[in-house]
Amino acid sequence: KTRMRLDELLFSQGFGTRRLCVGLIERGLVTVQGSLCEDPGAEIDTETPDLDYTVQGEPWRFHANAYLMLHKPAGYECSHKPGAWPSVYSLLPVPLRQRPTAGKVQGAQAVGRLDQDTTGLLLLSDDGAFIHRMNSPKRHVPKIYEITAKHALDEKQRDRLLSGVVLDDDPKPVKAAACEIISPFHLRLTLTEGKYHQVKRMLAAVGNRVEGLHRSKIGGLDLPADLLPGQWRWLGPAELDLLG
Ligand code: URA
Repeated sequence: KTRMRLDELLFSQGFGTRRLCVGLIERGLVTVQGSLCEDPGAEIDTETPDLDYTVQGEPWRFHANAYLMLHKPAGYECSHKPGAWPSVYSLLPVPLRQRPTAGKVQGAQAVGRLDQDTTGLLLLSDDGAFIHRMNSPKRHVPKIYEITAKHALDEKQRDRLLSGVVLDDDPKPVKAAACEIISPFHLRLTLTEGKYHQVKRMLAAVGNRVEGLHRSKIGGLDLPADLLPGQWRWLGPAELDLLG
């Protein structure tokens, strides 16, 4: 639907219960396309290109669904109930954490997980079909990892990673789709699946050890050089296309 009441619009974007959204509007804290709007029932055309609004002075743009990228810093867990470390979700503004998804207030979810100590490109979305597609093992979306190894890398290790190594939970070998020794302690590995701790376990299986792990690319989408650790941004249509 392309027309939405303003209170419903704010609710859909994660500004809290409908009651709270009505309150924000009636207290004069919401502008739409530059004009104050105090009527919760005002009809807004959500297909307006670049539909901008502000809530308590903060600028926002309407997005029917959230597709985000985050430069995950080390020391954050990809979990809503983290143990020893803060959650990656704490790096997102509150509305993105409480967007209603399929009736539930659950906000944008990480598309797959990175370990607490892993850095780099993490996608988040509130579109269940998108998350499912990106995680589907059938689609083989390539992911590139930059590895700092504990021991010097050699061609034998590289060849074993390419031909397949057996991990402890599955007799079927897992292989890297690509593997390149960049320098004695830097390996670039492409995986098209995402088993638990896969990179670390693959390196261990060839007698080495991961000292540092960074995801630099998913599908055709590189982590932008100007997106600093802890920063996030919306994905545009062209970037979504790069994910296939
Ligand atoms: N493989 C790992 O071992 N850890 C990650 O965070 C991602 C892939």
